[in-house]
Amino acid sequence: MSTLALHTPEKPVEAAGPGAPALPAPLWELPAGLSYRAERVAYHGPHREFVAPGRFVVLIDGESPWATARPEECLNTSNPSVWIADYEVLVCLSCGLDDS
Ligand SMILES: [Zn+2]
Repeated sequence: MSTLALHTPEKPVEAAGPGAPALPAPLWELPAGLSYRAERVAYHGPHREFVAPGRFVVLIDGESPWATARPEECLNTSNPSVWIADYEVLVCLSCGLDDS
């Protein structure tokens, strides 16, 4: 784990429940209407691409509009990401993983 702190957000994502290990703080502040799903992402896609701590699935108005339930199950190997929220947030088109 690097000791270099490039970003120090003020508030961590809520952990899943009492006693659950704290999730890493998100890398970015999201615009209004977007939120992160408070679930740690182990990897992305069938090739198990590395996902930095603090990257989460983006929800729109609290809902997941993505075709794939979890980044670990994502089959998006050609990696087309899409900008949402007026080009402020880049997400995987299939699973909604923050790729900003
Ligand atoms: Zn994906």
